[in-house]
Amino acid sequence: MPALPPPAPLSGSPARLRRVRTAMEELGAQLDPAERLGQDPLAFARAWADPADQEAAAVLCSGLSYGRVAAFWPVLRTLMGRAAERGGPAAWLHAFDRDDARVVEGLRYRFMEGADIATWCGALGAALRQHGRLGALVEAGHRPEHADVGPALDHLVTTLRALALAESHRQGRGRATRFSELPAGLRYFLPRPADGSACKRWCMALRWLVRRPGDPRRVDGLDLGLWALPPAKLVVPLDTHVARLSWFLGLTDRRDGSWRTAQEITAGLARLDPADPLRFDFALAHLGISGRCTVRATADPAVPPPREICQACPLGPACRVGAPTLRASAPRRRAPTG
Ligand code: SF4
Repeated sequence: MPALPPPAPLSGSPARLRRVRTAMEELGAQLDPAERLGQDPLAFARAWADPADQEAAAVLCSGLSYGRVAAFWPVLRTLMGRAAERGGPAAWLHAFDRDDARVVEGLRYRFMEGADIATWCGALGAALRQHGRLGALVEAGHRPEHADVGPALDHLVTTLRALALAESHRQGRGRATRFSELPAGLRYFLPRPADGSACKRWCMALRWLVRRPGDPRRVDGLDLGLWALPPAKLVVPLDTHVARLSWFLGLTDRRDGSWRTAQEITAGLARLDPADPLRFDFALAHLGISGRCTVRATADPAVPPPREICQACPLGPACRVGAPTLRASAPRRRAPTG
């Protein structure tokens, strides 16, 4: 990937930064962690006590966590059910065999065939056998001089691509000689920052596995903290909700779902908390998932959304769509008489 200049962070006065930080803190305080976890695939990793199982479940499940929560949830439940029968996700992937592949082949999610998911499981198992833990691959790819986790993620995914190719041969799935010749459903597990992808699912897994666990009664305390990378180097998992809300908050002016946009939003978030830029990510993503903000990404700021939506939203005072709506609906002060 060509070297790019550092992305522009959230611009504006200290007062504006304070307004955005206060709005994010209020958003986090309003969310019920237990309720939101019921809508978040992180729950499948947190369900295990052993860190090895948490890691395996996090990486396996994050790869399938796209689209509607209700659509991918049953697939993840089936995978974790099979893992439980086989001694937990880490042991299951480590010993992934033909019988396991046959069970997984019965699944399907959107354009991912069961065979793609089985090859993905097999490749993760091979990585565990060769490297002990998946985190070892990320940690080996990181250098202190790296601005973010991009190069470490490239290293992990490049290794997994080679293992996926080998696993597709081992499972008897054709004669591909290059990663680009593998089925699209399998390749979709393995995007890289080097190719410009925002790598939303990988960035989400990195957040879960790098951010330290905190108070589980808070939505910013739910992550697992198993991989030894600095949380300051994480990049925001850029899905449609986070992209839309980040634009509303002025964290970016970009509209594409690229790695570059994810970096720019992260740079803005780092101005709110340099040591932990993804502190507000769970809250922001769940404002979108919950459907509380129904304003579209293409909303014209000159055409205000229904006042009631923004009045009930904690981001209102910091939102470039919501704040003008709220100002316009505020009762006017009457001029003194007499
Ligand atoms: S203030 Fe309004 S437009 Fe902005 S995020 Fe909240 S609901 Fe959406």
